[in-house]
Amino acid sequence: MSGDEESDLRRFFEQQIELYGDELALPKEKLNWRGGEAATPAPGRSPYLGERIREGLESPPRPEPQAMPDLNLSTLEELQGRISGCLRCAIGGRRRNLVFGEGNPAADIVLVGEAPGFHEDQQGLPFVGEAGQLLTRILASIQLKRSEVYICNLLKCRPDNNRDPLPDEVANCLPYLEKQLALIQPAFILCLGRFSAQTLLQSQASLTQLRGKVHPWRGSRLIVTYHPAALLRFPKFKHETWQDVQLLRRLYDEFLSENCPR
Ligand code: SF4
Repeated sequence: MSGDEESDLRRFFEQQIELYGDELALPKEKLNWRGGEAATPAPGRSPYLGERIREGLESPPRPEPQAMPDLNLSTLEELQGRISGCLRCAIGGRRRNLVFGEGNPAADIVLVGEAPGFHEDQQGLPFVGEAGQLLTRILASIQLKRSEVYICNLLKCRPDNNRDPLPDEVANCLPYLEKQLALIQPAFILCLGRFSAQTLLQSQASLTQLRGKVHPWRGSRLIVTYHPAALLRFPKFKHETWQDVQLLRRLYDEFLSENCPR
């Protein structure tokens, strides 16, 4: 055996021992490449993957991604029960509560935000922090109570430190939102912020470009406005938000007069 071949073989055996450790199919003495001299790790290196993980030198293998549950369900309660243990994203394992949504299950209007924040994660309810209080006042300004509408988010779990949702989190959680909307079948959807709007409309357009219009969405009419948390930081957007919710109110009044004539 040439020196190069021996070197390659030695490296191969070292990798096998590092990767599989005690689970190696062949006894270690059979992996001896020089008749009697056992394969030993380089000085100072742990031979087995398990030890290297314990020493913080390797990351543990990622668990198999959780499969999408069967969403062939007919009520919101069933859907909530079905996804209550969801761990399809890493943030699922760090949540205090999954924030499913709340409100009238037969609402004509569904509000869709971005993701739970700290207070929402603590209480398991959407829009209960300062931004939620502002949302309640915005609804009151167009003569709507929270109990009349349905409120939920694009993501059901809180992203770490309230960061933006990641693309794989959006992809994992979107079927749950789509199922909620399919069960409620609202006449109107009000997207709060660009994440829910861009995701539902499958658009990269900015919030400024998306707001002020009525977008058809699977039999509903979708309107886009600013997220209340953005209004707390940038009050200058309150005027546009007022215009957006006035548009919603006007269209809703027309809908009511057509569908529930007095
Ligand atoms: S964000 Fe959605 S998909 Fe991801 S773990 Fe939470 S409930 Fe599951």
